[in-house]
Amino acid sequence: MKTIDNLNFENKKALIRVDFNVPLDEDGNITDTTRIEAAKPTILKVLEDGGAAILMSHLGRPKNKEEEFSLKQITNKVSEIVGVEVKFAQDCVGTPATEAAAQLEMGQILLLENLRYHPEETAGDVDFAKSLSELGDVYVNDAFGTAHRAHASTTVVAQFFPEAKCFGSLLAKEIESLDRVLNNNEKPVLAILGGSKVSSKITVIENILDKVDEMIIGGGMAFTFIKAQGGSVGNSICEDDKMELALDILKQAKEKNVKIHIPIDVVAADKFANDANTNVSDITTIESGWEGLDAGPKSRQIFDEVVNRAKTILWNGPLGVFEMETFSGGTIALGNSVAQATQNGAFSLVGGGDSVAAVKQFGFDKKVSYVSTGGGAMLEMLEGKALPGIAAIKD
Ligand code: AMP
Repeated sequence: MKTIDNLNFENKKALIRVDFNVPLDEDGNITDTTRIEAAKPTILKVLEDGGAAILMSHLGRPKNKEEEFSLKQITNKVSEIVGVEVKFAQDCVGTPATEAAAQLEMGQILLLENLRYHPEETAGDVDFAKSLSELGDVYVNDAFGTAHRAHASTTVVAQFFPEAKCFGSLLAKEIESLDRVLNNNEKPVLAILGGSKVSSKITVIENILDKVDEMIIGGGMAFTFIKAQGGSVGNSICEDDKMELALDILKQAKEKNVKIHIPIDVVAADKFANDANTNVSDITTIESGWEGLDAGPKSRQIFDEVVNRAKTILWNGPLGVFEMETFSGGTIALGNSVAQATQNGAFSLVGGGDSVAAVKQFGFDKKVSYVSTGGGAMLEMLEGKALPGIAAIKD
């Protein structure tokens, strides 16, 4: 795997695809700078080698070059975080871009205007990618969040740098962390899958059954498994058309010697609301009119034991409706278990979909080994798909 550490950027202009698709408030202030901070090591490596950095990114989904999607508004923040003044080009291609890139001196940083002001970006247009490629000497992809998209700046542009292309440090770390969980792992390997629906995680489950020793299936997904085995799940979220699939997964797991753990009790509620009446119920006998919205105390205890005997842990998806305090206890308990296992030497990776929001909300992001920055991209990697942005660098 060729990363920025394998290249010397002295006198080189590095064209770096970063993910600066940051959340902004109504006044254009950045509400979470994680993505800018995550790109900093790659930018600094280029500058410290004696090179220059040309940063390109998208921001939001502009239709008509609306100003609210301009990357200009984040330039000062990037300067502040990186510690070097960042110049701005009014467009990512054409004269504003070529002139700004040509004038850029070594040690300097240039940020290009939003790539998605041009529909050619998401269309993966080759000519547009070629125009981008002419701005730099080396192509670096450090945008994990868009690595599953075959866009001009994430994938197509790489063909114009047959030798001079590499992964940035963030993207390299994402790939290495997942590899450490799925391939070069220490056993026992545990996957924890939560979230709302079996249908959105089915490919993930099937792909990782070959890679793990134990699996916890929690959250809303659990009820499809319970009902398929004859349990009563009341009003709990359940995909009746996926029940056969659930039984097939259980069969496959048995054949592959993977231990599956599903909650045995739940916090049930009489409505989908924080102020609902609640009770703790056996997961197989939930009363009609009631729905399971969190893992119960016995399940939390069992999961704690399962987590603490694992040496490698992958966690995707909450155990309950963590957004409501009343149903956040299962996810918090699980986070504590994963934090403890990590402290005792296990390698833990959290990522995929919206999982990161849950761990951040409860402060577990600092207590696990690695938190992935790319929701959709991580999910596709867990599904065993080759991501175009990664393949384009490896080719
Ligand atoms: P996902 O995006 O598939 O990872 O699912 C995350 C969502 O699953 C969160 O918004 C949770 O509120 C939801 N969720 C977790 N457990 C349940 C449950 N028992 N019933 C309904 N939704 C759930």
